[in-house]
Amino acid sequence: MIEKPLIGIPCFQDTFPPQQRPRFVTYHGYVKALEAAGAVPVLLPLPTGEALETARSRLDAIMLVGGDDMNPARYGQERHPKSEPPDDLRDEVEITLARRAIETHQPLLAICRGMQVLNVAFGGTLIQHIGDQVPGAIQHEFNYDDYHRRQEITHTVEIVPDSRLASILGTQAGVNSFHHQAVAKVAEAFRPVACAPDGIVEGIEGHNEHFALGVQWHPEDMFHANAQMLSLFQAFVDFVRRVG
Ligand code: MN
Repeated sequence: MIEKPLIGIPCFQDTFPPQQRPRFVTYHGYVKALEAAGAVPVLLPLPTGEALETARSRLDAIMLVGGDDMNPARYGQERHPKSEPPDDLRDEVEITLARRAIETHQPLLAICRGMQVLNVAFGGTLIQHIGDQVPGAIQHEFNYDDYHRRQEITHTVEIVPDSRLASILGTQAGVNSFHHQAVAKVAEAFRPVACAPDGIVEGIEGHNEHFALGVQWHPEDMFHANAQMLSLFQAFVDFVRRVG
């Protein structure tokens, strides 16, 4: 039993104007959501090799978070014109983390890009631009001037009844949506457990009792005023407490 589990969140890279100084950052929402559920978030820069494994092995769980598109070369495709410029270091670190976490039965929650990374790390593929590649798809890419609006529900998801995700959220949820890419072929290590009304995969999880769960929406922007979304982080942290 771990009272206060340490949960690692890999940062992403950006540059701070006006000098374009590079930095490692993440959004408050991921940190605040884990804190609200009783965990201690630990931000990871993007270490590689032995340093990455050293950091990972001292953490109780991993949370992969949102961000820009993966390099499609990771799943054997040419870049679609709408695919964002890749960050190969971030891809490498997160794919390694996802694989090592699953191999070692370290609990893993993966959000948005994180779910896509998890899928690709185990041989799955992605839809590079829903707007061009999925006829009849609903709107999944929202962009608000005010980030407070990110908590707004824009579509529903149906959740597979006998899944871990359904045991946490029930069989339906209203979610936000900030993605133009999505899971295409689901890796064999996972199964789809949530989908949008247009069939876009919005959740995947592992086949066994180990906690390996990905969601395509952003619960970290919703948990303040949405008990169902807080329960997702609570279930993750409670699982880590029990098994750690
Ligand atoms: Mn969506």
